[in-house]
Amino acid sequence: MRDWLTALEAPGRCLALIEQAKGRCSCPHCGNARCHRSGHANGLQRYRCIACRHSFNALTGTPLAHLRHRDKWLPYFQCLIESRTVRAAAERVAVAKSTSFRWRHRFVAAVRREEPPTLKGIVEADETYVLESQKGSRHLDRPPRKRGGRATCRGISKQHECVLVARDRGKTTHAFHAGQGEPDAERLLRYLKPVLACDALLVSDGAAAYPRFAKLAGISHRAINVRGGEHARGAIHVNGVNGWHSRFKTWLRCFCGVASRYLANYAGWRMVLDAAALTIPEEWLRAAVAPRQQERPSYLR
Ligand SMILES: [Zn+2]
Repeated sequence: MRDWLTALEAPGRCLALIEQAKGRCSCPHCGNARCHRSGHANGLQRYRCIACRHSFNALTGTPLAHLRHRDKWLPYFQCLIESRTVRAAAERVAVAKSTSFRWRHRFVAAVRREEPPTLKGIVEADETYVLESQKGSRHLDRPPRKRGGRATCRGISKQHECVLVARDRGKTTHAFHAGQGEPDAERLLRYLKPVLACDALLVSDGAAAYPRFAKLAGISHRAINVRGGEHARGAIHVNGVNGWHSRFKTWLRCFCGVASRYLANYAGWRMVLDAAALTIPEEWLRAAVAPRQQERPSYLR
């Protein structure tokens, strides 16, 4: 609350934090480190690259570029930390609902550029499903569902969006929106292989795709027969990842249905909240602006 009030009192504070977070400037267009100052625009220092002659500022190349009302960003980050709805956040910081929606997704996308560390030791993996949603689309490619809806057939199908979660016992978590329906071994390979240490021990339920994936990836694997009523065999269980799923689904209900195309952002937002990594608006801003060593592979964006 105190931080929030301070942010309101000092509109220049956000700009100063942005410049600070960016650190040493290098050109976002060509990567060249040699650039010179070239005046100010909208309160931020402008730079010009000596090599490619493009100009840029601290936000160029981040999802925050070209967003306005920077004096309201810090209070808006606080709304994200508190999981406020689009409407509640819009009222709190006095912006339009459309701005509130755009900011939510840009701000979350900005921190999602930071990848959590590799998963080590015992790593639990499991999927959870949410019903496919075309919320906000002007043209549905299927008949609308009545009253929130159910799938038209039993079991997991293409009508379900898969949220694949892998979590190690140090509570480092990776969550992916892994397409529709149950993932096969190739899909698991695509998402899980890059985030698993090669000597990790993968634990999953009895789904057939996991042992196939483990074999393809050369990773040790143990399965727990959850359907047969088995919950744990010593340290072999998927309770950590299932706890994450249940927190995610409870939290998702605050938003009264989310569009499938934003599901990866919600998973990313939940990862930030669950890890309690960014607990004050200033930390969130710093993480959103800080330069990246390496951008995430395109399928993670
Ligand atoms: Zn350049």
